[in-house]
Amino acid sequence: MDNRIRIAIDGPSGAGKSTIAKRVAKLLEIDYIDTGAMYRAIGYKILQNRIGLMDKEALQLLLAKTEIDFTAGNIVLDGEIVNDRIRTPEISKMASDASALPEVREKLVALQRKMGQVKSVVMDGRDIGTNVLKDAEYKFYMTASSAERAKRRWLELMEKGEPADLIQVEADIIQRDYNDSTRSLNPLKKAEDAMELDTTGMTIEEVTQKILEVVKWQS
Ligand code: C5P
Repeated sequence: MDNRIRIAIDGPSGAGKSTIAKRVAKLLEIDYIDTGAMYRAIGYKILQNRIGLMDKEALQLLLAKTEIDFTAGNIVLDGEIVNDRIRTPEISKMASDASALPEVREKLVALQRKMGQVKSVVMDGRDIGTNVLKDAEYKFYMTASSAERAKRRWLELMEKGEPADLIQVEADIIQRDYNDSTRSLNPLKKAEDAMELDTTGMTIEEVTQKILEVVKWQS
């Protein structure tokens, strides 16, 4: 019997997906796949190589020569751990722009499906429940108000020693939500069979327990 479980967690930026997904994966002792980090890694490489998003030929070449993997929770781009380099506002923007391109999505979605085929995973992103792992056993759609999401992102940046303007952080988040939910290819959307979780005012522990309750109760 196939005992694999795949948990898909989608939602807008800053809803707490990765923090919760990481925690749920750890408690269930299964792998966590951060698909946003994969788009960020591509965005990082595009910026490093100064490639224009309209330059299809250069982009195809870059994608063909790109390897992305996760090792021990680290995002590895072409053999190098890039965790700390992909979390800047500039790369957030480039990841969002690049994620609307069919070539980029095709490559990353194929990789993500492969990762979800062989083992139990918690995968978070924008299109996991609607596209990447349509047949996932558990699907959650996590939201929170844009003010709360901006506050969380702002605190994260402050903790990293990168002070930011809260109003600007919220404006960036709203713009990114708009880009992600209006693009024609696999936009951010709640899957019909996903459970919606509004995390506004909830602690990490409360949201984690809520997900574990559902997974344990149904398995
Ligand atoms: O989740 P995170 O903010 O790290 O994602 C960065 C960007 O990657 C998102 O703004 C979105 O445009 C893109 N993304 C996507 N599909 C996913 C995950 C992320 O388009 N499954």
